[in-house]
Amino acid sequence: MQIQSLGDKILSGDRRALARAITLVESNRADHRAQATALLDELARHNRQALRIGLSGTPGVGKSTFIEAFGTLLTGQGLRVAVLAVDPSSARSGGSILGDKTRMERLSRDRNAFIRPSPSQTQLGGVARRTREAVALCEAAGFDAVLIETVGVGQSETVVAEMSDLFILLLAPAGGDELQGVKRGIMEIADLILINKADGDLKPAATRTCADYAGALRLLRKRPQDPPGFPKAMMVSAAEETGLAEAWAEMQDLTRWRREAGHWDRNRADQARYWFDQELRQALLARLETPAARARRDSLGQQVASGALSPAAAAQSLLETLD
Ligand code: GDP
Repeated sequence: MQIQSLGDKILSGDRRALARAITLVESNRADHRAQATALLDELARHNRQALRIGLSGTPGVGKSTFIEAFGTLLTGQGLRVAVLAVDPSSARSGGSILGDKTRMERLSRDRNAFIRPSPSQTQLGGVARRTREAVALCEAAGFDAVLIETVGVGQSETVVAEMSDLFILLLAPAGGDELQGVKRGIMEIADLILINKADGDLKPAATRTCADYAGALRLLRKRPQDPPGFPKAMMVSAAEETGLAEAWAEMQDLTRWRREAGHWDRNRADQARYWFDQELRQALLARLETPAARARRDSLGQQVASGALSPAAAAQSLLETLD
């Protein structure tokens, strides 16, 4: 497949070409990587942008139900929506598969939606790059919104936040009065906290939880990228599809404000720099993992262990042979 022609097809919105290109960026083969880089460079010249929405929440909180309902709301407004995932679990045994089409049946049949499950990679770094590149491909294909789903277990939120324009944390109503052990770090990157399952018997608990988080958010340090009232906590029911239009209106308001205040562009520029840095680090680490470098590491490691060489001198010696 010619890269030029694949690129043209993606720009025309061809879904099969998009799927093929995502497979290309997911490949580990060196020739595929070179083609993927060429394709992404070509597409980047068109500078198409979608609203990138990061979405995190623990298993069972209702992410798939939410994406299904929210995605359908957006496509109902004539928008094209892509769903991607960053799955931090190295093995696929147990746990839910993120971005699983069978969990989003209605949306997966929607012509204006495109759903791609996360690639099965062992390294979060590898998944991060592939997802980021898949986001860029979806933008080139003309999607208006890209939802990037992840599980709230730690590092993966940071990865998703670094490729999103908006970050949404989905929570369930809490039984007690504790803040569900949500780490402060996650609260600090959230633009919108949505308390899901605000329906039926869970409604009172959802109301309490929402008030708790609204209070907690007010205590956080004010960020320059927040207009008055943000970050915000709101109640939704993905199952009953209530609160979704209101949440979308808040996302649009926030986006408009950030665009006008210059935060949107600044954020994207900062993210590009961040990923440049990550790419560099990963490329350097990869050079330590070649067979020759490993052999040299083993032998230097033995010398360090026996006291014949200092750790610093050994590291220096290895780095010199890499150059
Ligand atoms: P995920 O693991 O975060 O993707 O969560 P799912 O979307 O698979 O939902 C987990 C469970 O919560 C399922 O049984 C859903 O039916 C249920 N659920 C999801 N959203 C809602 C909601 O808004 N209200 C209620 N009552 N249940 C919900």
